[in-house]
Amino acid sequence: MGRTRRSYYSALKRITKVANSALSLRRICNSVAKSTAKAMQANGCRILSLNPQKEYLITVGAYGLSDLYLKKGPLEARKSLPDILEGKVVFIADAAKDERVQHPQIALAQGISSLLGVPVLGKGEAIGEIRIYTREPHQFSEADKSFLLSVADICAVVFERAELHQLLEQGYKANERRRKSSQVSPLPTTLKPTSFAHPSEEDFAGLLDFYCIEWLYEPRSFPLRWEGDKIAEMFTPDFYLPELDLYVELTTLKQNLLTEKNRKLRQLRELYPEVNIRLLNKNDFLKLLAKYGYGPLGEAKVEGIDRVLYSHAKIQRRIRTLARRISRDYAGQRLMLIGILKGVVCFMADLMQHLSLPVTLDFMAISYYGGDGQVVKITRDLDSSITGQHVLMVEDIVDTGMTLNYILSHLSAHNPASLRVCTLLDKRARRLINVPLDYVGFEVPDEFVVGYGLDYKGEYRNLPFIGILHPELIKDEEVR
Ligand code: 5GP
Repeated sequence: MGRTRRSYYSALKRITKVANSALSLRRICNSVAKSTAKAMQANGCRILSLNPQKEYLITVGAYGLSDLYLKKGPLEARKSLPDILEGKVVFIADAAKDERVQHPQIALAQGISSLLGVPVLGKGEAIGEIRIYTREPHQFSEADKSFLLSVADICAVVFERAELHQLLEQGYKANERRRKSSQVSPLPTTLKPTSFAHPSEEDFAGLLDFYCIEWLYEPRSFPLRWEGDKIAEMFTPDFYLPELDLYVELTTLKQNLLTEKNRKLRQLRELYPEVNIRLLNKNDFLKLLAKYGYGPLGEAKVEGIDRVLYSHAKIQRRIRTLARRISRDYAGQRLMLIGILKGVVCFMADLMQHLSLPVTLDFMAISYYGGDGQVVKITRDLDSSITGQHVLMVEDIVDTGMTLNYILSHLSAHNPASLRVCTLLDKRARRLINVPLDYVGFEVPDEFVVGYGLDYKGEYRNLPFIGILHPELIKDEEVR
């Protein structure tokens, strides 16, 4: 056996052993990064995990790289070597000159020349990456690549096991909380570096998770002062919230800490005026969430809401996609949007603003009567004629399909030029009548949802997100 194969063999033995140990995700990944870098005679190694929306890469383990390099800012998956995430192996001979490198000046400061990156694939899809760095220009052999791909396979198993562990643990904690206070948190959706420096950071992360607000923990360090070429002082804010493009530093009210943090923040703002950063204590962060449309918030979470299904930002992203498709499908035509009051108000208002077509608007109102409450009566009909018009029926939620079925037959009797349906939510599991849905925002589980226009006994319509109501709050027959 050649030297390389021998050292790769013993490195793989070490790596599988640590991967199968009871250590935390971060410690396993740090150790894997170290063994990998040493076996490849490289200067650094970094293991990254991709968030479920496939937007950001989060460092879960590293070896041989400075804090400044590791915390050079959130790595956007689409910008940072997208080829790796498409399943390809990427080799960069000169990191300082290659335009695929997102922060070349920092790579230069770190003294990085060559880089080899491979995807971590779980069930055939990219769930992360491993990158190897060398200080001297280096060519990697086929054996090097094949070794790194094997390490990536081991990392995939480690990631999936850690995710399963987190799910089980959160499920356990949620059950405990449910038992104690009948409040539940959603299950986590991303591998998170769970070792927070302070309990208040964990609380903040929990609140962000509850509202489905994407966050990254300490993704960037900002150099504040230099002595010659060396960085003498740095500042690493606790969180970055990509949807708000906001860095957050949490603080207590202890005056000496506050003064010091305020000084650093002033300096940071002077040096990096483009960076949006806030120093928050606990009350501030509740107010801030409210200001950014995650309110109205009481003490902490909205009373009665079991968990948030779709954040405001996620709803907006989905609406933009739907609006693009509708604008494309009806290009060159005029469109008449019809909604049923009142649940559709938020969706209609946001959707129409993103349509690049001439549109007109009309509303109907209905009520239910009959023994099972499911016979529909129109209490307010349209103001204008739809004959010969292209009509798009805009719905908040389609449940059994009875309402929509009735409305569609009422509308088609007036001979529109075309009649299609766009619904924000599709509760397919409860469908009784098969109604055609042309545009669907989200398929929701069979639970009672409120917010973003949808109500329970007239309330909750003003929540900017869509959430699930505590099952204990609803008596089934009252709302369905
Ligand atoms: P369907 O006739 O399809 O069974 O029901 C349609 C109407 O029922 C919707 O327009 C909505 O008013 C109401 N609905 C059905 N499911 C839900 C839900 O989960 N939350 C709320 N707030 N309303 C619902």
